[in-house]
Amino acid sequence: MSSAPQRKDFEATGKMKEVMGNYFAELDRGPKEGKKTAWCTSVGPAELLRALGFNVYFPENHGAMLGATRMATDLIPLANARGFSPDICSYLTSDIGSHLKGASPLQKMKMSGPPKADVLVFNTNQCRDVKDWFQWYGREWDVPCVGIHTPRSIGDVDDSIIDDVARQTEALVGPLEEVAGEKFDIDKLREVIDISRQCTVLWKTILETAAARPSPLTFFDGTVQMGPAVVLRGHQSAVDYYNVLLPELQERVAGRVAAVEDERFRIYWEGMPIWGKLSSLSAQFLELKTCVVASTYCNSWIFEALDPSDPFESMARAYSTIFICRSDDRKEQYIEQMVDKYQVDGILYHDAKTCPNNSNSRYEMPQRMQKKLGKPYLVVNGDLNDLRLYSEEQTRTNIEAFVEQLSEE
Ligand code: SF4
Repeated sequence: MSSAPQRKDFEATGKMKEVMGNYFAELDRGPKEGKKTAWCTSVGPAELLRALGFNVYFPENHGAMLGATRMATDLIPLANARGFSPDICSYLTSDIGSHLKGASPLQKMKMSGPPKADVLVFNTNQCRDVKDWFQWYGREWDVPCVGIHTPRSIGDVDDSIIDDVARQTEALVGPLEEVAGEKFDIDKLREVIDISRQCTVLWKTILETAAARPSPLTFFDGTVQMGPAVVLRGHQSAVDYYNVLLPELQERVAGRVAAVEDERFRIYWEGMPIWGKLSSLSAQFLELKTCVVASTYCNSWIFEALDPSDPFESMARAYSTIFICRSDDRKEQYIEQMVDKYQVDGILYHDAKTCPNNSNSRYEMPQRMQKKLGKPYLVVNGDLNDLRLYSEEQTRTNIEAFVEQLSEE
């Protein structure tokens, strides 16, 4: 009897667990060591916060953990009962549910739970939900909640947008200094931006190894390996980690070590991960000898515009050019270039019910892209965290039929 194909782990992963463990331990120790904690949205001004000496915590990462551990399912209704609709961001509802119940996956890491914020800092470049989410905690703890309002559906990122976002970011310095009890130092910011940029370049190079045939890396690996790029950008430990992971991937490429044995097809994943189903989806694609080689999601933590010689403008550019805040025609150009670069055979769009902001199948994009690129597509209806909105059986059948279709192309 032949056994099911196995996902190949990376030797570096042990080191990553250590790096992430240290990050959470540092957050936990923060108050005892007199360090202040700033909550930051995933594409918020993390560099500025680090430069001001804050420990930086990202609740979306906690949201993803609640999804991956499937704790979200029981917690979302608690936030719904408090008045947050089941139709809005399920990171928000799971996280607030987690707070209300006092239950968190961080407790398995010997933390009492997420660290209490001294200040909450958002950027609406991704959605409005993050602001509502942070404001709730601001009221709950009576701490300041400040942020940046970035336009969305941006076509050309012109100077007026950069100027506006850069000035809004600079305006945060005063209120943040007050909470931090530290004077802002532009050279410290340049230093942090430099480290953040090194992390970005490494993370990009890592993801690009998947352009090789066979690919040494899948989207599912990427969702695990991206941890340091998300929570530790601007911190040397992320750079150190990716300097360990990259050679391992390069070795796999040189030795033609495939992430998916006998890789037949290559798919692009558009949209959010389905956190609670990553293992079963990964296993299904392994069985189908199909590699999900690239995704919008894992590439969303690449901020090439960061430039230590121009801190505020470059942060504004980096955080206003991300995929999620661009117009559909810019998003389509991006996907087209990714399909070409990664030699993709088909595109899977995840329509995440509670995240319209990061679902791109609702306004005819798949059909337009198919016409333009001649590549088949599949739309999977589901959600990032709320598994009540996901049918495993139906998705399995649809993925099977999609891969069958690829073999007939
Ligand atoms: S982008 Fe989507 S998943 Fe992320 S915080 Fe906003 S609504 Fe939630």
